[in-house]
Amino acid sequence: MKLSLYPYQLQFKYPFRIAHGVRTHTDVVYVKLEHEGFTGWGEATLPPYLPETQKSVSEFLLSFSKNISSNSINDWFAKLQPVQSNMSAKAALDMALWNLKSQLENKTLGELLGIDEEREFPLGTYTIGVSSLDEMKTKVEEAISAGFEIFKIKLNGENDEEMIRNFRSLSDKKFAVDVNQGWGDWEEACIKIKWLADEQCLLVEQPLSKERNNEMGLIRGKGPLTMYADESCQRLSDIEKLKGCFDGINIKLMKCGGITEAYQMILKARELDMKVLIGCMSESSVGCTTAAHLAPLADYTDLDGPYLIWNDPFTGMKIKEGRIKLNSLKELSGNLLNQSL
Ligand code: MG
Repeated sequence: MKLSLYPYQLQFKYPFRIAHGVRTHTDVVYVKLEHEGFTGWGEATLPPYLPETQKSVSEFLLSFSKNISSNSINDWFAKLQPVQSNMSAKAALDMALWNLKSQLENKTLGELLGIDEEREFPLGTYTIGVSSLDEMKTKVEEAISAGFEIFKIKLNGENDEEMIRNFRSLSDKKFAVDVNQGWGDWEEACIKIKWLADEQCLLVEQPLSKERNNEMGLIRGKGPLTMYADESCQRLSDIEKLKGCFDGINIKLMKCGGITEAYQMILKARELDMKVLIGCMSESSVGCTTAAHLAPLADYTDLDGPYLIWNDPFTGMKIKEGRIKLNSLKELSGNLLNQSL
């Protein structure tokens, strides 16, 4: 098993503004695993509000591979699963292992997990960061021409009404909102949620700070909107205590360490009768195509990363008529991955 690492910087087409701040790019580390003539790719995406860096990811993965002498994929999985830190690095290697395994066994990742890929895929959102009307117009037009049918609008508590009014002046498509913990307390949330329901909003993601999970019980059930946990739900072990606070969870490979735990999280959420959204941290086609294999098990997807960046070195999943269309992952020729560590 040969491991190679490629640090890279994904550039956003437009500056991406949310309640945490604004960013123009995202550092990533691509992981390439080669074995028996096959190549499995993985991706660690590193938004600045998370603790991992290209250096920490590279150090973790080089040390992990140095300490494993076996060439068996199952041995690599077994050694990786107990890891409880460096979650983006873990996710990248877990992803590469699943992608390699699917080639070695000549099955899709969905087939390996027993997922019926003939099932209709759920609708997938296109994310609009906090934007001016002009910026929003460009993004809405671009998303609709790319095949998106629903939107996820980022709110930050400051100009929420204006954002939704602007969106409604441009489109009558359905939308979700993601507040990224931006509302102050449950009373503010109740007022805004009632108003959003009148605007035909589909769902609200993380309205309050993750420290205020207990207030979510006061919000739920006050209207028709479903509440999804994102920042409040990182890992499998978080889900049980969120039952009663949220209706659903947003699962991201970078939060939970990869496909292995993400799949267990879906099963757990369903067991608790909770809804599931498969999201991303604006990964490129490697992360989003891998995560897309879980989509038939979800209520919604938010795997729009490849559509938000202009220098994706790979191609894979696409959106067609609002839903994910799975394509195999391919490295684009002439790409910039020319420097491995
Ligand atoms: Mg979110």
